[in-house]
Amino acid sequence: VFTLPVAAYMLQDQEAHAAEMERTFIAIKPDGGQRGLVAEIICRFERKGFKLVAIKMLVPSKEFAQKHYDDLKEKPFFDGLCEFLSSGPVIAMVWEGEGVIKYGRKLIGATDPQKSEPGTIRGDLAVVVGRNIIHGSDGLETAKNEINLWFQPQELVSYTSNAENWIYA
Ligand code: ADP
Repeated sequence: VFTLPVAAYMLQDQEAHAAEMERTFIAIKPDGGQRGLVAEIICRFERKGFKLVAIKMLVPSKEFAQKHYDDLKEKPFFDGLCEFLSSGPVIAMVWEGEGVIKYGRKLIGATDPQKSEPGTIRGDLAVVVGRNIIHGSDGLETAKNEINLWFQPQELVSYTSNAENWIYA
C-alpha cells in the first residue's frame, strides 16, 4: 500500500533523469592513438563526470570514413581526411551525460588547434587542423547518426554508475 507511491515517484525521478541524458560519438583519430594520447583524452571526459557507454578500436576502411564525413564531401580536404582516418587504429566511443554533446565539443576545442583555447584537448595536444586528434558529434541528429554508423545497438551498454548521485543533484 505504501510502497506503490514511493516506487512510482522513484520511477518518475529516474525517467526524468534519463530523459535529460544525451549521448555523443567521440573518436580518437589515428594521430591520437599513434601519439599515445588515448588515456589522456579518455581521462578528460571521465573526470568531468561523463559516462562511457561504448568503446572499441578499429581501423575503418576509406569507404567507411567517407560515410562518416559525408557532409564534407565537397571540401578540398575530403579525400586526404578520409585517407587519414582510415590510416590506422581509431578509438570509437559513446559518452553519456547531461549536455555531453555541446560540452564534449568544448572539451575538444576549435577545429583548428591554432584557434583552440589552452585547456582544451586540441589546444593542449595538437598543432594543425589536419592532425587534430579527436572527433566529436556537433549536434543531436549528428550524434544519433554517428552512433548508429559506428556501433550496433547491443554494443551500447546501459548501466547505473555509483557516482551518478554525486555528479547529478
Ligand atoms: P570538427 O572536427 O571540429 O567538427 P569539421 O567537421 O569542420 O570540424 O571538419 C572535420 C575534420 O576535417 C576536422 O576535424 C579536421 O580533421 C578536418 N579539416 C577541417 N578543416 C580542414 C582544413 N581546412 N584542412 C584540412 N583538414 C581539415
